[in-house]
Amino acid sequence: MNLTTIRTRFAPSPTGYLHLGGARTALYSWAYAKHHSQNGAFILRIEDTDVERSTPAAVQAILDGMQWLGLSADEGPFYQMQHMPRYRSVIAQMLADGTAYHCFSSAAEVEAMRETARAKGEKPRYDGTWRPAKGKVLPKPPVGVQPVVRFKNPADGVVSWNDIVKGTITIANAELDDFIIARALTDDAAAAGEQVGVPTYNFCVVVDDWDMKITHVIRGDDHVNNTPRQINVLQALGATLPQYGHLPMILGPDGEKLSKRHGAVSVMQYDALGYLPQALLNYLARLGWSHGDTELLSMDQLVSWFDGSNLSKSAAQWDPKKLNWVNAQYIKQAPLKQLLDWLLLHRAMQATPQLEAAISLMRERAETLVQLADLVTVFTARPIVSEELKAQHLLPNAALLVSFSAALTALAVWDKESIADAIQLTLKQAAIKMPQLAIPVRVAVFGTTQTPGVDSMLTILGKSETLNRLNNAL
Ligand code: GLU
Repeated sequence: MNLTTIRTRFAPSPTGYLHLGGARTALYSWAYAKHHSQNGAFILRIEDTDVERSTPAAVQAILDGMQWLGLSADEGPFYQMQHMPRYRSVIAQMLADGTAYHCFSSAAEVEAMRETARAKGEKPRYDGTWRPAKGKVLPKPPVGVQPVVRFKNPADGVVSWNDIVKGTITIANAELDDFIIARALTDDAAAAGEQVGVPTYNFCVVVDDWDMKITHVIRGDDHVNNTPRQINVLQALGATLPQYGHLPMILGPDGEKLSKRHGAVSVMQYDALGYLPQALLNYLARLGWSHGDTELLSMDQLVSWFDGSNLSKSAAQWDPKKLNWVNAQYIKQAPLKQLLDWLLLHRAMQATPQLEAAISLMRERAETLVQLADLVTVFTARPIVSEELKAQHLLPNAALLVSFSAALTALAVWDKESIADAIQLTLKQAAIKMPQLAIPVRVAVFGTTQTPGVDSMLTILGKSETLNRLNNAL
């Protein structure tokens, strides 16, 4: 048995809601850790170092979304802002070791260097003015300028990794800048006794992945460009490298990157729109990963099958119709209580035996819980029958409805069997077929021509309300 511990993480930046791409990344990272049930851990890390854009509300939205989806972390949430002293001490150590260096070039100077490179047809980059080298005499530090700290990226060779999703990716070091790992120390920070400025995003990720002993980094492929830089820093720190897997993005139905333009993109919006978390997870699981042609799978099955293989290399396309189909399958099978709880919470309905019976009957027809809510409302709200339906179905059948009403009134017991008997009796008396009675009854009692079986519907509605509606319709 392979007893290597598998440690994955989900590392969202709290700058908005938990979006669908993030939820899929979280799901895959979670499933991969759970797949190694004996020795796997899934870690939640909030990357909140962008203080301008991070908000407590966005942190809460991420936590709420993860909880709604049921993706609980084995460790965390950890917050990067709480690790600042650690990042700074690693930078101080790198400065001492010579794997990082102070750079006094101003932003304008760096821009000029980039311009020069562009003019020569080269990749725009920092030119290494302050990069120490054997025998090189560095310029004199300008007075009153606080330096940034740059990572001393290897000058030659390549960075190569075997991406779990994309296969081998190789980047020449010559392509990579000596990127900034700490910004210039501000006067305030210096006054507070700091030696090193604010560490940058790419650097914090590296230190945390190292400290948290992450073995598998699964994330969106918008981070592919960061990976060679991060690998080089990890190597400079003498850290063991994690394996990386970069998931292709999710496209909207029109082939463009999935965005608000395509409708709901926040996970919690899907709750409000009446999707079950299990259905959304099932759909997300299949969006970029497959297990044969299995479409419906439980989270236990996902966990047992999700071994890092069968991940799609190409972008996935969001398909609202398929999501609705998956959701409908889950609505059919969900515990009644789950459906009931949603209706109580989101539609302020009252928990009654009638509502439970209505859910049981109507769930077959609903693709979303919003639809289910509309379907069950026919029992609680008197229908407004359109003039058109009235003219077409009620007026020509007034006598029939009166005789049906009489048959129902005579019933001593109100259950499905006796209602079915009353229907049969009425059909026989009028010498007509079922639809000729069922449609006018549906219109009269529920305001629509389509419902499940009339006997089931009327059983739930109850005798006095049925008779009231029938009599009022005429
Ligand atoms: N914080 C990054 C983001 O939200 C993810 C970083 C990572 O997974 O390495 O895009």
